[in-house]
Formats: sequence, C-alpha cells, structure tokens
Amino acid sequence: KREVVTIKMDSVSENEEFARVAVAVFLSRMNPTLEEIEDVKTAVSEAVTNAVIHGYQGGEGTITLEVSVEEDVLTVLVQDEGVGIRDVAKAMEPMYTTAPDGERSGMGFSFMEAFMDQVEVVSAPGSGTTVTMRK
Ligand code: ATP
Ligand code: MG
Repeated sequence: KREVVTIKMDSVSENEEFARVAVAVFLSRMNPTLEEIEDVKTAVSEAVTNAVIHGYQGGEGTITLEVSVEEDVLTVLVQDEGVGIRDVAKAMEPMYTTAPDGERSGMGFSFMEAFMDQVEVVSAPGSGTTVTMRK
C-alpha cells in the first residue's frame, strides 16, 4: 500500500525549512537512521532552494512537495512551474551553475544524487521543473 502526503507552498525561502522538517516527520515512521534523515533533509533542501531561486527567480510561485512511501521506498517529488531548464544533463553536472559571481557553487544536484539513491529531473523551458528522488 502506498501512503502519500502532498503540500503546496509559496515560493519563499522560509519554506525550505518547512519542507525539510515535513519530510523528516514523514520519514520518521519508517524507522530511519539519523544519517538517512540528514541525507533526505539535505536533498529536499537543495531541491526546494533551486525551485525558489532558479525556478521562480525569487518571484511568486507555488512549489508542490509530494512525499510517499511504498514497500519501504521513500519518494520525494519537488515541483515548480517556473522557468524550467534547457539542458538538464548539463545542469546536473558538478559545479555547473547559472548564478553569477560565485554566488552559488553548482553542487545542489550533486548533493541530491549523493544523498539519495535515485534522482530524476524532468524539465523544459517555460514548463517548470519536477525533481523526483528515491531512497
Ligand atoms: P548550489 O545548489 O550549489 O547553491 P546551483 O543551485 O547553481 O548552486 P544546482 O543546484 O546543482 O547548482 O543547479 C544547477 C543549475 O541548474 C542552476 O544553476 C540552475 O541554472 C539550474 N536549475 C536547478 N534547479 C532549477 C529549477 N528548479 N528551475 C530552473 N533552473 C534550475
Ligand atoms: Mg542549487
């Protein structure tokens, strides 16, 4: 049986913490290790931060967070309807960033891939971005 929680939130940086804690609470029912909790929180934080700063570029928007569990596999989906990504493979390369002046390190996707078992990104210019992560 699949269990799911869906949260829609405004695209503001304060909600990065909300998303992180909400996922941790959901995960806690699966008897995770402390390390697993930290890994998932970090990955969620990176994905939501990307939606806020890149997807909506600091402007208004709605971010959908969907957390589900089925047969001990946690799936986290972070979706925005922002600008989207032209070249997903390139965006996911370590140290690739479109933010100017060394403001960001371009490591967000790399952290997601390191801390989760699977990361899938579906995106196109003008149609927003959906990041699906499993652990
Ligand atoms: P860091 O995460 O280290 O602060 P970063 O956000 O630039 O830096 P990544 O998280 O790896 O690095 O993202 C790489 C690039 O992918 C971003 O610079 C941005 O161009 C693009 N990107 C990521 N997420 C989104 C999104 N939700 N919408 C639009 N573009 C995105
Ligand atoms: Mg990032």
